[in-house]
Amino acid sequence: MTSAAVTLCVFCGSRPGANAAYAQAAQALGQGLAARGWNLVYGGGKVGLMGTVADAAKAGGAHVTGVIPESLLQREVGHHGLDELRVVPSMHVRKQQMAERADAFVALPGGLGTLEELFEVWTWRQLGYHQRPLALLNTEGYYDRLLAFIADSVNGGFVTEAQAALLVVEREPQALLQRLAKLLPAPPSGPADLART
Ligand code: AMP
Repeated sequence: MTSAAVTLCVFCGSRPGANAAYAQAAQALGQGLAARGWNLVYGGGKVGLMGTVADAAKAGGAHVTGVIPESLLQREVGHHGLDELRVVPSMHVRKQQMAERADAFVALPGGLGTLEELFEVWTWRQLGYHQRPLALLNTEGYYDRLLAFIADSVNGGFVTEAQAALLVVEREPQALLQRLAKLLPAPPSGPADLART
């Protein structure tokens, strides 16, 4: 792993979900991020979409880091095939360590945990705690009604259009990765650039 490589933080279901398209999308996202030379940080589980995205990223050559609270090691089946599995004391430390390593955040289809993680990084962004891109993979419209509710909350005067627009939404993994790539800051100039000055 080079320190300049982009690290994508992925939040997703600890279950596979009821539609095979969700696992296909998780696999495509894992493969796609690896193909871009990006690395992955995620919740460290082997189950559900979490395991699927991690296995695909690892198979594609990405450096994969999992961060899992000790209390969930059994329930989410800590993935021991990763480059690094960090076992941490609490959910708060997990989220903090995932966020510290991330250059951008993506939520795939998932349940309450995924929603909580997405909304946390979204609210942190609106408060200016970080400036990193956030994206939602809306596989087969899984999140359509959530997005409709966000539009309602803009109309209701509780969320600004600018806050709502912080979330990049795409239905296809490759389109989502492409949009994120454009939002990431340009990599710092390397020694070769310096040598030319
Ligand atoms: P889920 O979307 O509910 O399947 O959960 C996806 C991931 O979110 C799993 O790794 C859960 O451990 C994690 N998670 C569950 N509850 C929370 C929470 N309150 N805060 C942060 N992450 C959570």
